[in-house]
Amino acid sequence: MAGPQDVRTYSTELDLAGRRVVVFGGEATVLRHLARLLGTGAEITVVAPAVCPAIEAMAKAGRLRWHARSWQLNDLAYAWYAIASTRGDDAAIAEAAEKQRVFCTRTATEAIRTPAPDHPGPGVALIGAGPGDPDLITVRGRDLLRAADTVLVDRLAPLELLADLRPEVEIIDAAKLPYSRTTAQEQLNELLVDRARAGQFVVRLKGGDPYVFGCGFEEVTACAEAGVPVTVVPGVSSALAAPALAGIPVTYRGMTQEVTIVSGHLVPDQERSLVDWSALGQRKGTLVILMGVTHVARTTELLMRAGRDATTPALVVQDAATRFQRVLTSTLADLAEDCRTHDVTPPAVFVIGPTAGLKVPNVVAQPEPCLSS
Ligand code: SAH
Repeated sequence: MAGPQDVRTYSTELDLAGRRVVVFGGEATVLRHLARLLGTGAEITVVAPAVCPAIEAMAKAGRLRWHARSWQLNDLAYAWYAIASTRGDDAAIAEAAEKQRVFCTRTATEAIRTPAPDHPGPGVALIGAGPGDPDLITVRGRDLLRAADTVLVDRLAPLELLADLRPEVEIIDAAKLPYSRTTAQEQLNELLVDRARAGQFVVRLKGGDPYVFGCGFEEVTACAEAGVPVTVVPGVSSALAAPALAGIPVTYRGMTQEVTIVSGHLVPDQERSLVDWSALGQRKGTLVILMGVTHVARTTELLMRAGRDATTPALVVQDAATRFQRVLTSTLADLAEDCRTHDVTPPAVFVIGPTAGLKVPNVVAQPEPCLSS
């Protein structure tokens, strides 16, 4: 029977671009296949009554189609390739696929648990996976990921990294944890601790750097307080990498000697917001805003009101370090309007400051930054 390794070979050797591929099953474990398939340009349909949040997000972003129901015979019509990863229907799906001459891979959800050959022992590693490209994780991060028994993954972490995991490694979508008496964060902390106490090596894989707006410290503290060995592997943060991948530096000799990284996720005037936007408006350096899409109109307005020049160059990098990367150049005054016009959606990094106006030809080594105004 074929396992995930074979899927990887298929997707690199078979040309699936523009071809219908059907994935049956919506649990986080199919993320390892989906990430790979997305890279092939296949037309992906997921059939599952329920899916994990990461798959839901992919469907919402138009990267795949999701049919929220059980499988049907005609799901296989016109398909070139199918992956069956359900709880109980895999045999029937594989049989139907065989009859319809559709290649079908069954991925055992009930795999036998065998420890990795280089098992590091029980504990937790909090790993920064970098901004989006699977190549931008650190060597240490990649090595520890390979040794994991369980991986708790964030939506922003490059999911392609999951394709290399041994089939028996359990993948959990961190956004999936049900809300109940405790908060999702507390449940997540508990899960890390419980698994490690059960002898597992647990990897908590986060986008960018775990300590930049990532709640990493809360998780590390929870582990440490529970006496669970925990290690942190820093990552390449989107705050600095996204501008670089868009072709601009965040500092420049003689131009800018400061970078301020802020979160724009709260309404600026809200009491809970700890960002002093009027103080930021008086600065001349580079301002990098993460999680800023929703409130961009209000934040840019506050910056200008506090004195920042309306003509200050601004730049948005959406989906940095992925195939979907888009770069939009603007000014502080026009930023909010331009974001609306070009339908900028998270995740995006804003860069406001003189370096955002620099133009360096032929440096960007990213695939198709397809938007510029
Ligand atoms: N720890 C992460 C940040 C988490 S907060 C890091 O160090 O990168 C989430 C925010 O990060 C997003 O709202 C967005 O502003 C930014 N972000 C993360 N990945 C991104 C990407 N690939 N492209 C653009 N912005 C990204």
